[in-house]
Amino acid sequence: MQQKISLKLLPSEAADEATVKKYIASSAGKKLQAVTGYHISKQSIDARGKNVYINLQLNAFIDEPFIERTTTHFNFKKVSAAAKKVLIIGAGPAGLFAALKLIEAGIQPIIIERGKDVRARRRDLAALNKEGIVNPESNYCFGEGGAGTYSDGKLYTRSNKRGDINRILQLFVKFGAPESILYDAHPHIGTNKLPHIITA
Ligand SMILES: Cc1cc2nc3c(=O)[nH]c(=O)nc-3n(C[C@H](O)[C@H](O)[C@H](O)COP(=O)(O)OP(=O)(O)OC[C@H]3O[C@@H](n4cnc5c(N)ncnc54)[C@H](O)[C@@H]3O)c2cc1C
Repeated sequence: MQQKISLKLLPSEAADEATVKKYIASSAGKKLQAVTGYHISKQSIDARGKNVYINLQLNAFIDEPFIERTTTHFNFKKVSAAAKKVLIIGAGPAGLFAALKLIEAGIQPIIIERGKDVRARRRDLAALNKEGIVNPESNYCFGEGGAGTYSDGKLYTRSNKRGDINRILQLFVKFGAPESILYDAHPHIGTNKLPHIITA
């Protein structure tokens, strides 16, 4: 059976799979061997008190084989010779996600970006931060990846009316983001990791 279980653990306990399994077994009143695995559905940090705790909502597999988390399948078509083409201005998140949608629809996106590619931007940002030199075409806002590419990539939003957020998170994971963004209460990709996702 699969059972939903909530646990409040110390960070060291939450990070250790064997310990989490022990708590699942005790919470479900089962032997440890009965717990074959678990998925984290939600993870949040409670740092309000003296001790920091991790709240975990789990889907535990008990007395049945563990099944790996299912991932969304993206059907990216080969569009290099597609008859239909769409011009996108700007390789920010809006442009890049639009391009991915078009590829799924079998249409070839052509992105025109005024700034430099994501790696070259790093040099211009270094000049900006160290010497105060602003390149008007390649900076924190302009260039491949768009504004926020050189941030820590916070992904949380209060909006749930504008489409499937999980699908977007799955896309980030497909291109190299940590799987924890799928269940963290306040997901973020991490400083300097976004450029790798852009080039993946
Ligand atoms: C420092 C910083 C940190 C941020 N951190 C976060 C965060 O952690 N989490 C979060 O959710 N949001 C963050 N944001 C906000 C987020 O980056 C923006 O909401 C998002 O980038 C908007 O996407 P967009 O595609 O609409 O526009 P943009 O990202 O602005 O993309 C537009 C693109 O078009 C290009 N362009 C502009 N004019 C032309 C032209 N004439 N021809 C060709 N190309 C052109 C630009 O160079 C740019 O690449 C941050 C923003 C900044 C500046």
